[in-house]
Amino acid sequence: MSQKVTVFGSAAVDLMARASHLPTAGETVCGSFFTQGPGGKGFNQCAAAHRAGADVAMVTKLGRDSLSHVTLGVMEELGMRRDYIRFHDTASTGTALIMVDEQTSQNQIVVVPGACATFTDDDLAAAAQRIRDSAYLLLQLEINQDANEKAAALAKQAGVKVIINTAPYRPMSDEFLQGVYLVTPNEVEAQEATGIEVTDLDSASRAARVFYEKGVENVLITLGARGVFVSAHGREAILPAFRVQAVDTTGAGDAFNGGLLTALAEGQDLWQAARFASAVAALSVQKLGAALSMPSREEIDQFLRLHP
Ligand code: ADP
Repeated sequence: MSQKVTVFGSAAVDLMARASHLPTAGETVCGSFFTQGPGGKGFNQCAAAHRAGADVAMVTKLGRDSLSHVTLGVMEELGMRRDYIRFHDTASTGTALIMVDEQTSQNQIVVVPGACATFTDDDLAAAAQRIRDSAYLLLQLEINQDANEKAAALAKQAGVKVIINTAPYRPMSDEFLQGVYLVTPNEVEAQEATGIEVTDLDSASRAARVFYEKGVENVLITLGARGVFVSAHGREAILPAFRVQAVDTTGAGDAFNGGLLTALAEGQDLWQAARFASAVAALSVQKLGAALSMPSREEIDQFLRLHP
């Protein structure tokens, strides 16, 4: 039985162009390829959880513009529920303008949060009942932080377990972290949050202590292809990643967090959930793209059977 869960966070549209070189200031370059697709950490994580079988609702905010249809269209295509989508009348849908040098794969990116930086008390109120009815609330740091703080407070008050994926990193108040069930930084964010460079079990453990001092209950630090440091239920270890041929690790963390949310909602403990999440992430890195490359439950179950 899967309990209800909610993702409160960003949805954006990625606009990506490739060219023989990146333009310098004032230069116009003729590109060779263009694509657009849904993104935003909140959206990617929600898509991953939905594909993995969670009863998940996405609370996010879009502009009233053509780009919003990219996000809404994909949600419809994937069968995601859209009843907690909010709209801003004048701000644009969040966008990432990505330029990629096809020779070197270097990129330049401009991110415009747009509507995702305008969450209000009304937006939260519209989703409050859904959050209270959820077993877990998953947050990232890609929207206006005052809204995150209020969403976390509302959830904690209702006894809903709060998970914070601390990406992209920004300083967080002690109040925000106090009483949080779980944080899931990657190694870079863990260092930014704690000042401790995470290189091995010992340093990860020391970084986890810093989160514990702030009142966080459990800590997972993702370590890319090396796996994930798990500090939960009084035990600490690095769970190695599944060995796969990675083609695109964009969104690995998002796949991981969506998978984690799904497993926790099904009552798995954090160790089992971390393994499930690692499988979701390992499957996602074998495909191009983020939101649209999240694996189905069937693929995840089969992968786990083949990798006991
Ligand atoms: P982020 O994308 O936030 O930087 P990480 O790079 O730490 O996150 O990756 C998150 C998780 O995705 C890892 O803990 C691991 O389980 C999985 N992962 C990432 N890269 C690979 C890879 N090359 N092979 C297998 N699993 C991977």
